[in-house]
Amino acid sequence: MDRLDTMREIAMDYYELAPDRVKDLAEKFYEAMDYDGDGKISPKEFMAFMREQGFEQYRDRYFFEDLDRKGRGHLDFKDVMTLYYIMKSGRPFCEGCGELITSIYFTCVHCFQNSSMPFSLCPGCYLNNHYSHKHRFFLDNYTMLETQRIENLVARKASQCERAALMSSSMPSSSNSQPGETVPESQRSSKKKKLEYAFKALDAALKVATIASTAACTIC
Ligand SMILES: [Zn+2]
Ligand SMILES: [Zn+2]
Repeated sequence: MDRLDTMREIAMDYYELAPDRVKDLAEKFYEAMDYDGDGKISPKEFMAFMREQGFEQYRDRYFFEDLDRKGRGHLDFKDVMTLYYIMKSGRPFCEGCGELITSIYFTCVHCFQNSSMPFSLCPGCYLNNHYSHKHRFFLDNYTMLETQRIENLVARKASQCERAALMSSSMPSSSNSQPGETVPESQRSSKKKKLEYAFKALDAALKVATIASTAACTIC
């Protein structure tokens, strides 16, 4: 079993289950790479395709050899579907050693949230400081996913509350207060709720950050 075997299985599973429209796209991807139409992808075709499409990070002889599961010097349809899955699922290359990361990895939180180019590292490079990057806060992919999940839940709950508050503030008021006299109760409680949710979101983010940094320290 080599390091891409699990990805191969996942890729073929996705392909088998995909609707015809997606299968067509995947087949077109294969045909586009097969410049001479002989049904297999040579290293030259692979490199030319990656250059033409601007996928510079994939233009690597060792990566080609990893994809070539039978070691025949060319890629067949299954190999290219593995590549297609790797690209579509955004599997990262390590910014330290340049290898495709096939399992757990660490990613820069700032770049993940603000940049179209996430900065990811394999565990070896992350733990041994084998990288240079301007930001210092990293999370592993599992913790990042969990953080996103919690943030989404909190954001959804907050917007539900905001909507409910808006609805109640648009209802005719029974109070006799004049405009400008005091802040209506509904607005005050909506503001308070928003603050509460903001704090909860921050709390959740900090908790996972603490867990992550403690985990990193015990490994060091
Ligand atoms: Zn690495
Ligand atoms: Zn960064």
